[in-house]
Amino acid sequence: GNSARKVNFGAGPAQLPVEVLETIQNEFLNFNGSGSNVMELSHRSSAFAKIIQEAERDIREILTIPDSYAVLFLQGGATAQFSAVALNFLNLKPSKTADYLVTGYWSEKAAKEAEKFGKINWVVPKSSKYQGVPAEDTWKLSEEPSYFYYCANETIHGVEIENIPAVVPKDVPIVCDMSSNFLTRPFDVTKYAVIFASAQKNFGASGLVLVILRKDLVENNTNKSIPIILDYKVQIANESMYNTPPTFSIYVANKMFAWTKAQGGLKALNQQSASKSSLVYETIDESNGFYVNSVEKNYRSRVNIPLRIVTNGTTNETLEALFFAEAVKSNMFELKGHRAVGGIRISLYNGITVEETEKLANFMRTFQAKNNS
Ligand code: PLP
Repeated sequence: GNSARKVNFGAGPAQLPVEVLETIQNEFLNFNGSGSNVMELSHRSSAFAKIIQEAERDIREILTIPDSYAVLFLQGGATAQFSAVALNFLNLKPSKTADYLVTGYWSEKAAKEAEKFGKINWVVPKSSKYQGVPAEDTWKLSEEPSYFYYCANETIHGVEIENIPAVVPKDVPIVCDMSSNFLTRPFDVTKYAVIFASAQKNFGASGLVLVILRKDLVENNTNKSIPIILDYKVQIANESMYNTPPTFSIYVANKMFAWTKAQGGLKALNQQSASKSSLVYETIDESNGFYVNSVEKNYRSRVNIPLRIVTNGTTNETLEALFFAEAVKSNMFELKGHRAVGGIRISLYNGITVEETEKLANFMRTFQAKNNS
């Protein structure tokens, strides 16, 4: 039964809605009369074709993706896209350089990977602690970059950028890593050249990355030495099936997109994300400095909330350890911060309910009342 399920506030792979897991369970031995599990179906079968086509149709509907954009279901996670973006697009302009806005661990990784393939311009200086975004009038933008890259939500540092930065000229192709906040808020696909998101946070199982990209940019690509599975032109021509795609993860994504629509689409999930994150930030802000989130308010992530417990002006790791232990006793798991930053991290992906977040916020208040001497 469900009573044994833990509430998982981890950064991913994340908790999925229990009703989605139950549907998968019901179909596990015999998918749709096929007599097989989905993972046993040929990726060339009509039964699987229906799954990937439905998934594409639904995500196109959810995000209003125009036909001028391709939707790809690829392997290698978001990390593979760090290389693919550079290999496919660094030479879009004669400058053969790209601008990277580095605002945390993941955009830093992307910039360093891209540096293997060409000249990368860091728009803002490297930081040792990412807690926001430097003022746009301090940015050093290139004259004519092949593209501008940023990460919409830094999963470890909890820095979220709501809109495409206004200083980036309108004709510069925008590449965005939306892995951790994908499907938590609406956005205008047509403002981007490439969007990618790995599945294990908001739409299912790891091993799958969704890539949405402008087809015309791919046609202009002149790099002849791209590893074939990272070559967007090849993947578009083969409809994500140059080789065997991650069929089971695509099946789970299909279920999650159907669930997203049934929730009321991005409008509803946007509201849920706002409600859940407000519950936690209100608890932090009303704690008189017991819980501390150091991100500038405009850039606070609604999805990943890193925080420290502070007593007498210093970080209290003993109380943080007690916090994790007490949380586990209340069936709340995976609250430990990433090893790169320490402390506590609360991840509020789409599979976490408002009710579960209320319980966590109540737990935080009770914990403070008991331990804030
Ligand atoms: N980008 C962001 C924002 C992430 O949070 C992650 C993983 O947590 C990645 C990229 C890497 O994703 P993957 O492990 O699917 O390669």
